[in-house]
Amino acid sequence: MTARNPRSALKRTRWIVVKVGTSTLTRDGELRAAKVTDLVRQISTLADRGRRVVVVSSGAVAVGSHQLGWSHQGRSIRQKQAAAAVGQIGLLELYRRRFARRDRQIAQVLLTRVGLEDRERFLNARHTLLELLRLGVTPIVNENDTVATDEIRFGDNDNLSATIVNLIGAELLVLLTDVDGFYEEKPKSGQARPKLVSQIDRITPAVRRAALGSDSAYGRGGMATKLEAAETAARSGASTVICNGATRDVLIRVADGEDLGTLMLPRKRLSSRKHWLAFTARSRGQLVLDAGAISAVVERG
Ligand code: GLU
Repeated sequence: MTARNPRSALKRTRWIVVKVGTSTLTRDGELRAAKVTDLVRQISTLADRGRRVVVVSSGAVAVGSHQLGWSHQGRSIRQKQAAAAVGQIGLLELYRRRFARRDRQIAQVLLTRVGLEDRERFLNARHTLLELLRLGVTPIVNENDTVATDEIRFGDNDNLSATIVNLIGAELLVLLTDVDGFYEEKPKSGQARPKLVSQIDRITPAVRRAALGSDSAYGRGGMATKLEAAETAARSGASTVICNGATRDVLIRVADGEDLGTLMLPRKRLSSRKHWLAFTARSRGQLVLDAGAISAVVERG
């Protein structure tokens, strides 16, 4: 996707992964039904136009904590895991009801990074997701928090969504959050908003440093994990747009190529297997290469 206008190239994307964060879906632990209704309306509109959407939805921990009557979102990993198990039901039930109003079905897909490190399971997950999409069902993905201890920390659904991009070969990743996109510098309360960056061609160390300055104003996962996800998606040949879930018709407009949020351009696509090796599988041990082997790996792929 190296068209001269990368925004209008987004109009031609057919396979889209949308990640929606807790801050967009909940307030004080309560599900914002109107938000879900609106998101479902937009996804259905895209589906009617022949686009295929996979949703990666957070919110289980916040909703579950609220249902359990806590004023916090779990003080220990175990509490968070318990809360996620409680909250996931209500979260998916709301999606199910809203999609049903539009005669659409959903599927719950709970994944862990550790599970996907296994090549066979990775391929199984791919086949299931592709079959669901073929059937016209919208998969709603979340981490399987019950077994994912270190993955439960905030921001991980950003990375999970980038893994889904490679899993299904999506062309566009949309990260819906509670800020308008990536700012040139950290926004400070009481001061005019810094300039929003419309497009990032390449995630350089300077861009990463700017992201590290971000705080809660950038949503739960923070901007750093969103850049990491965008980089992972870029190596799968996909574009990423970071944008505000509260903007009217944001998904439809981004998919129509409108200049909203921050667009990160795709890079040269790694084959799906190499991408899996680089970003999903865990490396173990050490590789000792002589000069000839180095040139074979580095120069000849
Ligand atoms: N899986 C967590 C949840 O559903 C969210 C993790 C994240 O936001 O990255 O609450």
